[in-house]
Amino acid sequence: MNLTDPIFHDLDKAREWLEAQRWPDGPICPHCGNSDPDKIGGLEGEAHRKGLYKCYECREQFTVQVGSVMERSHIPLTKWALAMFLMASSKKSMSARQVARMMEIPVKTAWFLCHRIREAMKPATRGPLGGEGKIVEADETYIGGKETNKHISKRKKGNLGGKGKMVVFALVERDGLSHSFRVASVTGEMLRPLIVTHVNRKSALMTDMGGQYFHVGKEFARHETVNHGADEYVRGDAHTNTMECRFSLMKRAVYGTHHSISEAHLHRYLVEWDFKFNTRKVSDTARTALIVKQAEGRRLMYQRPKQAANA
Ligand SMILES: [Zn+2]
Repeated sequence: MNLTDPIFHDLDKAREWLEAQRWPDGPICPHCGNSDPDKIGGLEGEAHRKGLYKCYECREQFTVQVGSVMERSHIPLTKWALAMFLMASSKKSMSARQVARMMEIPVKTAWFLCHRIREAMKPATRGPLGGEGKIVEADETYIGGKETNKHISKRKKGNLGGKGKMVVFALVERDGLSHSFRVASVTGEMLRPLIVTHVNRKSALMTDMGGQYFHVGKEFARHETVNHGADEYVRGDAHTNTMECRFSLMKRAVYGTHHSISEAHLHRYLVEWDFKFNTRKVSDTARTALIVKQAEGRRLMYQRPKQAANA
């Protein structure tokens, strides 16, 4: 799939493509779950929009947009497909302004569109990472705040002048998936529940020397630490390099694409970066298709804040 694909220019092709991703085995009524092809009819003729179906089980009508992040959107399906493809295929993410320019839509519309697509990037489930013989790295990083403060705050754990910074804590299974979280602080008390909930205790846990990992580390099959303060980055299989890579990608998106991210929406961007990282081995096309698939059953229910266009 590339930008010349007809689904980005032809409304019928876009709709058919979206339907095929969402309903590979034929339409399913989003109102009652009926999937019996004999009890779902396409409404045709001039009086009806193309792609309008009627369910003869519950008597309701639906389109591919109903019961998904696309519900009640006035953006044409060609642009939905394009925005999904752009967001799925851009390594460093895309800003709402850039999407607005590329698609010739207002910035506010683009902003809302991008957040709806991020909603579809949320994983259906987040099972625990790791397991017997597996390695999970844990680390935290800071977004925002003064550039000059970053390395100092990163190295002096538990002694942060964290004002103006947002803290992101992340877990990554080596050669596996990653989950990230916005946290208020990086104390052991704050992190332990996240670590024990999201990491299988049979895993080996890799962290830096931060005191917040000291006690929780004992709950795992093995706990290795590297001393970043003493310039120790790798010792055998003890390192957090997977995480460094994960965080550096995230930071390039923040500072290179979005420039700034508001605290209120950080969690949505974390969903996007987890999604990109966790699907890094699949093609852009497959990643786009996954967004459509996961758009089902999701509806973004929040009021757009006034400063939205800056996000
Ligand atoms: Zn129905």
